[in-house]
Amino acid sequence: MPLSPLSPLSPESPASGSVALQVRTDRLQLLFRQSFLATFGSVGGATVLSWLQHDLGNRAVIAPWLIVLCLAGMVRLSLFWAYHRSAPHNRTPARWEGVYWVTLVVTSAIWGIGAFLLMSRDSLLSQVMTLFFAIGMAGSAISAYSAYRSMTLAAVGLVLLPTTLWLLTEPGNEQRLLAVTTLAFSIFVMRATRELSDALGSLLRLRRELEIQHRIASNAARTDELTGLNNLRAFKEQADAMFAYARRHGLTLCALMLDIDHFKQINDTHGHAAGDRVLHAVATRLKATLREADLCGRLGGEEFAVLLAGAERHEALAIAEKLRLAIQAIVLPINDSTLNVTISIGVTEADAACPDATTLLTQADAAMYHAKSSGRNQVYGGLA
Ligand code: GH3
Ligand code: MG
Ligand code: MG
Repeated sequence: MPLSPLSPLSPESPASGSVALQVRTDRLQLLFRQSFLATFGSVGGATVLSWLQHDLGNRAVIAPWLIVLCLAGMVRLSLFWAYHRSAPHNRTPARWEGVYWVTLVVTSAIWGIGAFLLMSRDSLLSQVMTLFFAIGMAGSAISAYSAYRSMTLAAVGLVLLPTTLWLLTEPGNEQRLLAVTTLAFSIFVMRATRELSDALGSLLRLRRELEIQHRIASNAARTDELTGLNNLRAFKEQADAMFAYARRHGLTLCALMLDIDHFKQINDTHGHAAGDRVLHAVATRLKATLREADLCGRLGGEEFAVLLAGAERHEALAIAEKLRLAIQAIVLPINDSTLNVTISIGVTEADAACPDATTLLTQADAAMYHAKSSGRNQVYGGLA
């Protein structure tokens, strides 16, 4: 059975409760996909049965049965229509399961009761024919509602029970045999649906868990563990994409290269752990100062880079100065004293001749070294 594409994961998806909810949502999606044709099948089956029973069964039942079944079918089709037109985040079990249940119970009950009323009380051929069709409908319910075991059982029960119970109370041996055979079939269905439902549940859960694990692994491979910023690989990938986007849309693009001043000295004086805390504090200030759309990453050691799309040089210089001041304002308590930190920043804007993001960042690096050689703790944007 081919599985449909997954609906989007909710943000809190790693939690196990959320996996269970996702699996339920997947089941619902599968239910709507698989049971669509059953709506036509139930009307089609009833029509053929009515035609076959025209001279055998209770003819007066045919027209009202088919009309009511068609009306119920139309209600079901409008439910499918509404489901598929709704936004994916609204296709939740809480919203759709209840109403689906109602249409399922109503349609199955109409089918089961109608077939029973149509069946002749005197003709064994009519009774065999009715059971044959009812068992066929029950069989198709297994595939149509396999995503929900309880729905399969409800549909099978409602379609088969009226006829089967009547046959069971009849004195004739043939009728009893038919009823017992149908009950045996129902027991088989109950067992089969349990195994099908368990297998399906495991498959859906595994798929969701795999997806979550994959997301965690790929996030970890792209994130700098100490600061939570993009690592070099993720930054470069996004920088290339941002450069191409800016070029395509005629946007300005500026790069900032940042390097903490005398960081080695901080490590040597206060220890590596203190250095790590400085890196973390600097990254936190960067995140807090920059906008969501700006790209920021730790390229390695105590070097960071920022790309600003849609910003001109004077705006990039202002942002760089804001960052410099924000970092200068960091006061880290270390042992009995406090620690301050400063940063040097190089700024460049991509001109028409700049071929790619790497070149732009190399120019920003050169500007940053100019800021270092001019005394550190400053922004330099003089190089093109
Ligand atoms: P400048 O002002 O010229 O930039 O001097 P600097 O001392 O900041 O630069 P330098 O390149 O001499 O030293 C960088 C130091 O950063 C050396 C290295 O041990 C340290 N470093 C690199 N990665 C980490 C890290 O993850 N944690 C810590 N604590 N230190 C690191
Ligand atoms: Mg450095
Ligand atoms: Mg440095």
